Amino acid sequence: MENSFDINNLVRENVKTMKPYSSARDEFKDFDVAQMIFLDANENPYQNGVNRYPDPQQSSVKAVLAKQRNLKVDQVLLGNGSDEVLDLLFRAFCEPKTDNVITLPPTYGMYSVLANINAVENREVLLSTDFQPEIDAILEAVDRNTKMIFLCSPNNPTGNSFDDESVVTLLQNFKGLVVIDEAYIDFSKKQSWLNELDEYPNLIITQTLSKAYGLAGIRLGICYASAAIISVLNKIKPPYNVNELTQQRALERLADKEKIQLEIDSIVIQRDDLLKVLNEVNFVSKIYPTEANFVLIKVDDANKRYNELIQKGIVIRNRTTQPLCENTLRLTIGTAEENKKLMEVLKSI
Ligand SMILES: *Cc1c(COP(=O)(O)O)cnc(C)c1O
Repeated sequence: MENSFDINNLVRENVKTMKPYSSARDEFKDFDVAQMIFLDANENPYQNGVNRYPDPQQSSVKAVLAKQRNLKVDQVLLGNGSDEVLDLLFRAFCEPKTDNVITLPPTYGMYSVLANINAVENREVLLSTDFQPEIDAILEAVDRNTKMIFLCSPNNPTGNSFDDESVVTLLQNFKGLVVIDEAYIDFSKKQSWLNELDEYPNLIITQTLSKAYGLAGIRLGICYASAAIISVLNKIKPPYNVNELTQQRALERLADKEKIQLEIDSIVIQRDDLLKVLNEVNFVSKIYPTEANFVLIKVDDANKRYNELIQKGIVIRNRTTQPLCENTLRLTIGTAEENKKLMEVLKSI
């Protein structure tokens, strides 16, 4: 497959012929920037920390991420949340009204929203009842216009990871792009698929600073892929898609690995405490295995229990309308204090 795979066969025609937009700042990066007078971008010259346009290539943030993940900087692309990264994938590879993608409900809602926005057909192949990909059905749904398959692992809202075997089968047999959304990977005992990037030229991995890294408010999503794929995405990304404040806060936070790990560890401990209590709640009929910072449960009457929790001041997510998720609720793991309150309320109703 390595030999036969050519990303150019998947790129939209209009993107293929594009050159990356060159912003004012891109052109002078080899000079001693501190010594230069910048009169090129119509900025206000008075310093306030953010009067200049941000680095369009986000070099500092990407350097830190590449080092921490043992990758090269040209294998990394950043976006305004993973939602922007996912949108860029549609816009780079899917011809509107012609191409299609495959998603595996119940899963993250943005894949279908983005398919709709981009006028791309979304072929939904339901997960099995234990929430694993149905490989034969997926490969049957593929045709020559299928550009991407989205695998969310650990999956939202179910919480489980997909079997390695299934993922490998898709990577080896599907000639388009396999996108693995690892938004929750830091809560899982499983290895990230990042280590397999060199093995599979059609593998794309998205991650985010919104969950384990505690930075949902700054909007920073990450795409890891081959340098060839990243350079296609760089052609079409808006030049200043990650603002200066976001880059600064991301750098500060990424430098604090110990603190992030402590928070993740404590969330995982709280999750295990909650699971024990859920076992004893009589209206909970099923607790789905979770490798994320949330747990999906099946209850007797999701709407009723959802409203009861709201009355007690606790907001969770009702997933009952999702396929295979009748009468399910998704509970995010909070602080120890929040979790204690949740457990008390669950026991009391
Ligand atoms: C929360 C979440 C994201 C994060 O999206 P951002 O735009 O980076 O905040 C991505 N994928 C899944 C499956 C999620 O649940």
